[in-house]
Amino acid sequence: MLELQGVTHVYPNGVRALDDVSLSIPKGMYGLLGPNGAGKSTLMRTVATLQTPTEGRITFGDIDVIEQPERLRERLGYLPQDFGVYPRVSAYDMLDHMAVLKGVASSSDRKATVETLLNQTNLWSVRKKAIAGFSGGMRQRFGIAQALIGNPELIIVDEPTAGLDPEERNRFLNLLAEIGENVVVILSTHIVEDVADLCPRMAVISDGRIRLEGAPRDLIDQARGTVWAKTIARDELGAMRERHEVISTRLFAGRTIIHVLSESDPGDGFEPVSGGLEDVYFSTLARTRRGPSEDALAA
Ligand code: ADP
Ligand code: MG
Repeated sequence: MLELQGVTHVYPNGVRALDDVSLSIPKGMYGLLGPNGAGKSTLMRTVATLQTPTEGRITFGDIDVIEQPERLRERLGYLPQDFGVYPRVSAYDMLDHMAVLKGVASSSDRKATVETLLNQTNLWSVRKKAIAGFSGGMRQRFGIAQALIGNPELIIVDEPTAGLDPEERNRFLNLLAEIGENVVVILSTHIVEDVADLCPRMAVISDGRIRLEGAPRDLIDQARGTVWAKTIARDELGAMRERHEVISTRLFAGRTIIHVLSESDPGDGFEPVSGGLEDVYFSTLARTRRGPSEDALAA
């Protein structure tokens, strides 16, 4: 179990990227969903011990993550959002090298580890090719292979599906799903389906704060009766936005389907929809935009 208590991070330029974040993250896949700039990568880097939070406490089992970062690193697998430079080294040699760095000392152990991971991530046939020439999907699968070296108990993957085509994304998510239930896996994403398909628990983050936390199914149940839909002509959209809190719009057969957030029947011919996780997510973001923000108050 990974626990965060009151974690706040303020960058030197004054940006409060995390604001009093408290989360209990059990074993299994955990989705951290939020828009760009929400603080996801800051949270991931903080848990991965690459930066120290301004305030707060983080524990993983009996490890105090901030006081004993080296103990956490022994149990950590991390796939950063920007993996950086892709070397002209083969996938096999790179994994072998990274296994050395992770302390897999014996060459026979390393051979077994590297071969298993290359097979698991479906990279065996390209093991002798340079990573520099890999497609986005292959790079991300390589990223998971390196993160799995040394059987980590905590795996952090930061926006791994961004930029993947649907087939590669599917393949990647299936790979994550196979990692197992005895490890904590935190997946950050701005794509609702990544979480809906895969994560028994999730949180929504925006502006550095946790806005919603729970099991996707429960969150969908709780949102029942608050999301309404209507099909309109495209030129009606402006008027609808003035009268209603529009949370999403979607084109369908040349018409526009809009979803609005309303605790009671909004009239205007709207029908209730049994919303999905996307409605939950957009409703949550819409609610956080209601009322004056702290910035506006401070100004
Ligand atoms: P996300 O990963 O959800 O897109 P980030 O954690 O990257 O969010 O960023 C959260 C906020 O912190 C943003 O406003 C971003 O501009 C800011 N930020 C991120 N890294 C730094 C940094 N090194 N210095 C200053 N501000 C930063
Ligand atoms: Mg990020």
